[in-house]
Amino acid sequence: MNGRKGLRIIPVRGANEKPGHRFDPDQLQSLPVAANVEIAPDTWRLSFPRPWDFVPGQSIGLTLDPSLPARFYSIASGVADPMVDVLYDRVPDGLLTPRLADLRPGDLLLCSLPFGAFRDSTGPSTWIATGTGVAPFVSMARSGKVDGKLLLHGSRSIAGLFDRDYFAALMGNRYIPCCTRENAAGVFAGRPTEWLRERPLPESDRYLLCGNSGMVVDARDILINRGVSFTQVVSEIYF
Ligand SMILES: Cc1cc2nc3c(=O)[nH]c(=O)nc-3n(C[C@H](O)[C@H](O)[C@H](O)COP(=O)(O)OP(=O)(O)OC[C@H]3O[C@@H](n4cnc5c(N)ncnc54)[C@H](O)[C@@H]3O)c2cc1C
Repeated sequence: MNGRKGLRIIPVRGANEKPGHRFDPDQLQSLPVAANVEIAPDTWRLSFPRPWDFVPGQSIGLTLDPSLPARFYSIASGVADPMVDVLYDRVPDGLLTPRLADLRPGDLLLCSLPFGAFRDSTGPSTWIATGTGVAPFVSMARSGKVDGKLLLHGSRSIAGLFDRDYFAALMGNRYIPCCTRENAAGVFAGRPTEWLRERPLPESDRYLLCGNSGMVVDARDILINRGVSFTQVVSEIYF
């Protein structure tokens, strides 16, 4: 359960599980793509009809053929939405994502059941994300779980602040977009970790961190050094 000291990493099992495990190709469901739209350079939103219930913050395993172990994606849609959405980056040398980017409506995906324990409580929380790491917070927001939450979303580009207008309308000044390489009105010039370091800590029962390992480890260290308990920090690392 515990990764580096003090960092709660949600366990994910994959190809080394026993036959019949949740990502075994025999356990994956074949589902038709409804839409696959490039929403920013090299990032897509993939949608397919929702076949199950899930808890906001959960992920799914996806692949395109049984010989390629499933990769994991956070669900980026609400619990009552008819479609399941995921946000994914096309990794140029990746085995799956360049193929995902070629999908057209009607093509078939192989999909696991939802899994994972990256969940929020009902109290005040700070959500911190980079890039597609905003996906679980899109899901929580679209599921009506936004009261008392503050979202810090970091990206190199303004276009990479996915769903910025949606969050700004829903959360007002409790949505803090952060951008390192471009400027825009209402966008903090810098990383979420810089915003966090420079200000009083937001009032929070929990801090949910999601995205690349660099941001997650830096944010965790800032929080712990400022007196936040390990148990209040919950992390989901994509790569
Ligand atoms: C619980 C969990 C949830 C995840 N949710 C998402 C999600 O919602 N959206 C998403 O885009 N990814 C997500 N990921 C990462 C995803 O599972 C894959 O690692 C990613 O899509 C690359 O797959 P691939 O087969 O194309 O690359 P692979 O052939 O598996 O190559 C992996 C290489 O790509 C690097 N890599 C992985 N992701 C990125 C990235 N975004 N940018 C640059 N390099 C990368 C890895 O460090 C590694 O070196 C999640 C991972 C986990 C563990």
